[in-house]
Amino acid sequence: MKTIDSISFAGKKALIRVDFNVPLDSNFHITDDNRMTAALPTITKILNDGGSVILMSHLGRPKDGPTDKYSLKHIVSHLADLLGQKVEFADDCIGAEAISKAKALLSGEVLLLENLRFYKEEEKGDKDFAEKLSKLGDVYVNDAFGTAHRAHASTAVIAQFFPKAKYFGYLMAAELKNAEKVLNGAVKPFTAIMGGAKVSDKIELIDRLLDKVDNLIIGGGMAYTFAKAQGGNIGKSLVEDDKLDLALSLIQKAKDKGVNLLLPTDSVIADNFSNDANTEVAPNKNIKDGWMGLDIGPESIAVFSKVVEASKTILWNGPMGVFEMEKFEGGTKAIAIAVVNATKNGAFSLIGGGDSAAAVAKFNFTDDVSYVSTGGGALLEYMEGKELPGVKAIND
Ligand code: AMP
Repeated sequence: MKTIDSISFAGKKALIRVDFNVPLDSNFHITDDNRMTAALPTITKILNDGGSVILMSHLGRPKDGPTDKYSLKHIVSHLADLLGQKVEFADDCIGAEAISKAKALLSGEVLLLENLRFYKEEEKGDKDFAEKLSKLGDVYVNDAFGTAHRAHASTAVIAQFFPKAKYFGYLMAAELKNAEKVLNGAVKPFTAIMGGAKVSDKIELIDRLLDKVDNLIIGGGMAYTFAKAQGGNIGKSLVEDDKLDLALSLIQKAKDKGVNLLLPTDSVIADNFSNDANTEVAPNKNIKDGWMGLDIGPESIAVFSKVVEASKTILWNGPMGVFEMEKFEGGTKAIAIAVVNATKNGAFSLIGGGDSAAAVAKFNFTDDVSYVSTGGGALLEYMEGKELPGVKAIND
């Protein structure tokens, strides 16, 4: 793997693709800076070498060119605080200001470019746009794992303009190493915990994991598709009616492979999708008409926790319930505690990005698990066995 450890950046301008797509509140305060702190080791190494740093990122999904709401200027002062130094900002990612500010950059200095997605060429993977970006630096570094599954101009296409000067940053290297460790070097017992809203988003991963894991725990909204497929009455719970056969075939595959598949036996049910709803605990296969399952119940928590705590490798992707609402966070929190306990006992625990990372952060367990991925979709695709364009572009 060609990481930034292969070279000294002294006197060089490093053009780094980072993923600073952080959540901002209505006052433009960053509500979770994990993606920024995750890129600091790469930036610091290059600055300490005597190089200068030009950062490029996207923020949100602007549809119509420059939009104040999606400007990266909102994160400049926090980045400066994190780095303990001044950060220059160019109000465009290409064009005269970007070129002159990049040119003027001295060793040890940092420049942040404006949101790449203000140009539709970014997501289209436009070659001319990528070439313009490439002119700003001497070396290309990709440290944006969160967008590594996209073949965009700055994440993949640009690499061809640096045939001998393209490298993985430390975050990318760590993400790939940890994903590999779980996929191909798992110490047994290996338990995967799958949750979240839809089974359809995670079919390929579940299917692949059935060849690798000892235990597969399924919770969250997706569990009700399995419950209905097995003949249960799930009331108004989330369901994908076109995936009932698939659910049954996954249950059969688990049996054939000798995988211990654990589905919830009980749920916290509600008469409303709201934190003010009336709630009860009910068997998963017998949920009252008009009510919906929004979290796993106490019996499921006890069974799942025991399996998790006895594991030596854990992969967790997707919450056990609607953890964003206090009334339905119990299952996700209990499983997080079980993962933390297993980690204390020597297990390796990898938390998939997206909502699983948000849940672990909400309960303040980020430092008590082995690794929290910064990539939601990217991690899923990598684990499904797909080649990520951002990774391929550096390896080619
Ligand atoms: P995903 O992006 O597929 O990992 O799904 C995460 C989302 O699933 C979170 O926003 C949860 O609130 C939601 N979720 C988890 N359990 C349920 C459930 N039982 N019913 C509805 N939504 C759920």
